[in-house]
Amino acid sequence: MRFSLNKIIGYGLVMILGAALLYSIMGTDSSQIKEIPLSQVIEDANSGIVDKIVIKGDELSIFSTSGVEYRSRKEPSTSLLEAGIDPTQVIVEVKDISGGAIWATVLSSLIPFLLMFGFLWFILRQAQGANNQAMSFGRSKARMTLQNNKTKTTFKDVAGAHEAKQELTEVVEFLKYPSKFLSIGAKIPKGVLLLGPPGTGKTLLAKAVAGEAGVPFFNISGSEFVEMFVGVGASRVRDLFAKAKRNAPAIVFIDEIDAVGRQRGTGLGGSHDEREQTLNQILVEMDGFETDTNVIVVAATNRPDVLDPALLRPGRFDRRVLLDKPDVKDRQAILDIHIKGKPVEGDINLGKLAAQTPGFTGADLQNVLNEAAILTARHNKKRISQKELNEALEKVLLGPERHNKVLSEAEKKITAYHEAGHAIISHVLPNGDPVHKISIVSRGVALGYTWNMPQSDKYLYSKAQFSDELAVMLGGRAAEMLIFKEITTGASSDLQKATELGRKMITRFGMSDKLGPVVFGGQDELVFLGRDMHGQRNYSEKVAAVIDEELASIVNEAETKALATLKKYHKELEAIAMRLMKDEVIERDDFEAFFPDIQSQKE
Ligand code: ADP
Ligand code: MG
Ligand code: ZN
Repeated sequence: MRFSLNKIIGYGLVMILGAALLYSIMGTDSSQIKEIPLSQVIEDANSGIVDKIVIKGDELSIFSTSGVEYRSRKEPSTSLLEAGIDPTQVIVEVKDISGGAIWATVLSSLIPFLLMFGFLWFILRQAQGANNQAMSFGRSKARMTLQNNKTKTTFKDVAGAHEAKQELTEVVEFLKYPSKFLSIGAKIPKGVLLLGPPGTGKTLLAKAVAGEAGVPFFNISGSEFVEMFVGVGASRVRDLFAKAKRNAPAIVFIDEIDAVGRQRGTGLGGSHDEREQTLNQILVEMDGFETDTNVIVVAATNRPDVLDPALLRPGRFDRRVLLDKPDVKDRQAILDIHIKGKPVEGDINLGKLAAQTPGFTGADLQNVLNEAAILTARHNKKRISQKELNEALEKVLLGPERHNKVLSEAEKKITAYHEAGHAIISHVLPNGDPVHKISIVSRGVALGYTWNMPQSDKYLYSKAQFSDELAVMLGGRAAEMLIFKEITTGASSDLQKATELGRKMITRFGMSDKLGPVVFGGQDELVFLGRDMHGQRNYSEKVAAVIDEELASIVNEAETKALATLKKYHKELEAIAMRLMKDEVIERDDFEAFFPDIQSQKE
């Protein structure tokens, strides 16, 4: 605001000066008046038709007896008398030359100074503004929200997460009726840590706690503590807690606390000193709460593994609330919440969508519904139908369709066999997932895709399941080998996935006969740059070689299985590939019709 006001004043100044200059130039001559030669002036004056002559420097203004004004010039430094005028016939008036002209001269010489002055003033003001900003760095950027009854987030807005809600109900009680707990000597918990994968509703739940308790909610993200200047983070923490205490009972919500709460002393990069100070300050503040300070710190992270143990000590974030990805029932409940306010067709089936989305978080599901709404609008329809839901789900899962990516006939044929290969193996192997759809319309980076999805959520996998899954992954490549006796690059991401899965089977799940039930290497998904760069390989060269051997044998075995399966179903492979070439897409029912014998196995 201040900045723009400055600008306005600055521009205003320049405009006023410009206008004044223009006026001073324009104002001195009025070009409407006719100019006549000096000889005629003298003639006219002497013949008595001129009333008055006004001399201003060398300029003459002539007023005739008939009331018309003329203009003329005389030679410099000669008087009108010398020029031969008869002073008895006419009034001659001599005026000072200056008048407006002087004013203009002075002003125009002043203008550069004025401009410079204005410019300096302008810069100074701005520099001062920046200075003010620097002064406010130390103040926390926490946003305080006191939710009113209308916009309030409550536990009703959070579907599923029953255990989490139960834990947090207690926190709400502490905030609402502290005396009830204090009177029997119970200590009010200081910190609650919400743990869970991104999008599972941690931020939402924290807001709901504040809404339920009706207390102000101070919201700051861990990364906002970390700035360029050392010490800023710590003073922001101080400021944040001071504000919260003033407004107690209150909730301080630190989102993404792993940004500051990462294990100390192990950070890479330059900013870990700053992080340490910030973290220390948080700990100091939490320790410093009086037992009856009614401020509860809620923090959220999806990286509990990297948190500093000091944060997790009793008296700090000693309450931990786990949020998991929702199961099918909870997914349905989440969909029910988010479909509210969106117009839908009567036949819409959210249960089906919930069943089709194992592994989706609340945020993913919300995204699917939003995509469906966008698609509906783009189809110029008023209500969301099942068709848009399906389309939206595919778009979220596989990326947008790219109809204008044109495959050559040969590429189309290879892709058709490749996808048919994946689909057939997934369908006929005992542990394969049902095939929902095959398509050779490009999506995202993929040329084609086979959408197979488990019938229900899976939590446990057996070795047999994994080895069938590997065969499915290699099915595309196997089909290419079988039909074209050649391999294309189209299978490279399949190979990568297969290799990763094979490696996990050996090093994570103890599924190799040679190596037995031992875990090798660090927990590579959990290791974050800051914590553990070395020590990942905690096994010998010899073991490494065996792992590689085992990996090769597992993957080769899967490939053999894939090839054998496709040979057995060669007829179907041809038929399905042909159909794909013709129609580009095969839906589940049509696909299963190719296998009348194994249809019932998978329901
Ligand atoms: P996180 O903080 O865990 O990454 P958010 O709380 O930001 O996740 O969730 C993102 C969005 O997903 C929320 O705004 C909400 O709309 C939706 N969402 C997530 N989980 C749920 C849930 N259990 N019930 C309803 N909506 C949810
Ligand atoms: Mg969040
Ligand atoms: Zn493939």
